[in-house]
Amino acid sequence: MQEKKGIYIETYGCQMNLNDSEIVSSIVQEAGFLIEKKIEKADMIFINTCSVRENAERRIFERLIHLKQYKKRKPRLIVALLGCMAKNLQAELLEKSEILDFVVGPDEYRKLPELIREAFNKNRALAVQPNNAETYDDIIPYRENSISAFVSIMRGCNNFCSYCVVPYTRGRERSRKSASIVREVKSLSKKGIKEITFLGQNVNSYFCPESKIHFASLLENCAAANPHIWFRFMTSHPKDMSDELIEVISSYENICKHLHFPLQSGANRILRMMNRKYTYEHYLSLVEKIRLKNPDCAISTDIISGFPSETIEEHKQTLSALKTIRYDSAFMFKYSQRPRTKAEHFPDDLPEEEKIRRLNEIIALQSSISRELNKNEIGKIHLALVEGKSKRNPKQWRARSGTNKLIIFDLPEVEIKIGDLIELKITKSTSATLFGEFV
Ligand code: SF4
Repeated sequence: MQEKKGIYIETYGCQMNLNDSEIVSSIVQEAGFLIEKKIEKADMIFINTCSVRENAERRIFERLIHLKQYKKRKPRLIVALLGCMAKNLQAELLEKSEILDFVVGPDEYRKLPELIREAFNKNRALAVQPNNAETYDDIIPYRENSISAFVSIMRGCNNFCSYCVVPYTRGRERSRKSASIVREVKSLSKKGIKEITFLGQNVNSYFCPESKIHFASLLENCAAANPHIWFRFMTSHPKDMSDELIEVISSYENICKHLHFPLQSGANRILRMMNRKYTYEHYLSLVEKIRLKNPDCAISTDIISGFPSETIEEHKQTLSALKTIRYDSAFMFKYSQRPRTKAEHFPDDLPEEEKIRRLNEIIALQSSISRELNKNEIGKIHLALVEGKSKRNPKQWRARSGTNKLIIFDLPEVEIKIGDLIELKITKSTSATLFGEFV
């Protein structure tokens, strides 16, 4: 009998990409291939890529150079590039990188078995057609994590923020049918999953084409039917934050009190140029509403520093927004121009050093705010989900609170396992981590 061929998948970028790798794993296993955990054992290497930032693409090009050497030692190896970069750069990738056997975009993963066959017949291929109907609704992702699961409830994005490639790489927004999401949640519940994160590029604009329900109802139905599962979701767009959703978050204990809520800039002119469709004042009123209903809700954000034409005054408005809102944490980046986006046509006029200086100022301010907020946690007791051993100190374990804070703790004498919900009293903190003891 012929031995099954093995595939090693390397994933870059966001949780949507991680979930896509799980969908890819499911498709190829169904077609008779194996998923390998060790690259040395694989007959094929799939690189699932991200195009959101220039730096992410650079890392992948560097990886391809490295794999070129590896392939010299293993000439029968198949190397394929998947995901957003595949869609963004298309034929250019096949031309530039001779080690690639095929390139496949996010809407064409069902073609993988055929592309693999062609690759073994030494035919190189490109499959990057957009398909705005594709939601992979019928495919149950192959998951290795038995505690937490990501569930994509929609694909693509219609927002066309001027700096972002996602609408071009992942196509128009389309929601999965609520019935299929509820089925997937039910099957995860039967398998003993403890935490589910609903994913979408704009998760709170979810609208089921069949049952006509919005995100708030979907979340409420799932939380009510599965009280033993913690529910999270990301990423929420401020323009789609409804009163119903804020109400649902506060009404269910098993909906985690953490919201990732990207602001991007505190200056209205920059927000207009970014095509974010809200003003800072409107955003702030939403944060106030969320906190009024959920006083303990942690809020995190994304900030871009040095957007084209950003003045010092506008940069200071972002700093002032951080001081006013006091986020628990933030992903902070300096602007990088992405091909095919609207902002590509704005002169990228800020010197690199100035972008870095502004970014460092933002990071320093946010770190001090996170440090202060985490210090306020000392003495409080958090219910937290045990994730496993601490990455830094194998003698300690880590757990995550509903507010998405990482808590490191010493293993108590009672038996504890991954997936347990435990109470931890916070004893110490840094800007990024809490330390606690079992109570
Ligand atoms: S909401 Fe804006 S930033 Fe987010 S994926 Fe859509 S276009 Fe990109």
